[in-house]
Amino acid sequence: MTVQFLGTGAADWKGVPESFPGYRYFSSALIDGTLLIDPGPDVFISAARYGVDLSGIRFIINTHSHKDHYSAATVEKLTAAGAVFIPLKEGEFASLGNHRILALKGNHGTCPDCVHFLIGSGDKVLYYALDGAWLLYEEVEAIKNARALVAPGTVPTAGKPVDMIVLDATIGDVPGDYRIFEHNNLNMVREIRQTLLPHVDRFVISHMALTLHKPHDELSKMMEPKGFTTAYDGLTLDF
Ligand SMILES: [Zn+2]
Ligand SMILES: [Zn+2]
Repeated sequence: MTVQFLGTGAADWKGVPESFPGYRYFSSALIDGTLLIDPGPDVFISAARYGVDLSGIRFIINTHSHKDHYSAATVEKLTAAGAVFIPLKEGEFASLGNHRILALKGNHGTCPDCVHFLIGSGDKVLYYALDGAWLLYEEVEAIKNARALVAPGTVPTAGKPVDMIVLDATIGDVPGDYRIFEHNNLNMVREIRQTLLPHVDRFVISHMALTLHKPHDELSKMMEPKGFTTAYDGLTLDF
């Protein structure tokens, strides 16, 4: 499975000049060149900047309707080019091309319809958990049972049901920020990793807020020894 990060920023990057060092577009990811997660307003401009080919997109799925994750204009343009938008609600399953996808409720108070995606393709499994604070109990259960749910009959290479998880890390290391009730801070993602280590092989953080984080290089150096890859725009991960 290939995950291309078109954007890794939170909503507060709006209006920041793209020349800003370590600039982040709004969060969006392209899976195996065919499945787009979150048709936000920056998809085309980011793809142009990082040389990502959008012409293979067949299906579009959306975590939630916040404006940094969903743009009607982006959906319109992609569907006019032949892609199909599949709105998945909590608990719904879809088999789209090579991908088996289960939507689970995310813990994201200002958008109660928010879903996260468990995605299987062949013997690979991804969990995409933006936006949201603490994974909900049902999500953890789905992660533990991921093989049966989206990759039946497969044996995980690393012996863990999920190969890679992308976690919301909006809040950084800022103490006392009330938004932890709908986004993670770095202490929370560290706790989540420690608990999910038996079930998840690789941990990635994304959806970083401009105003709550150190510059990317500093953040990345701090999180790498703690077992995290810090996503950045244009990053491609294969597993
Ligand atoms: Zn967001
Ligand atoms: Zn949101």
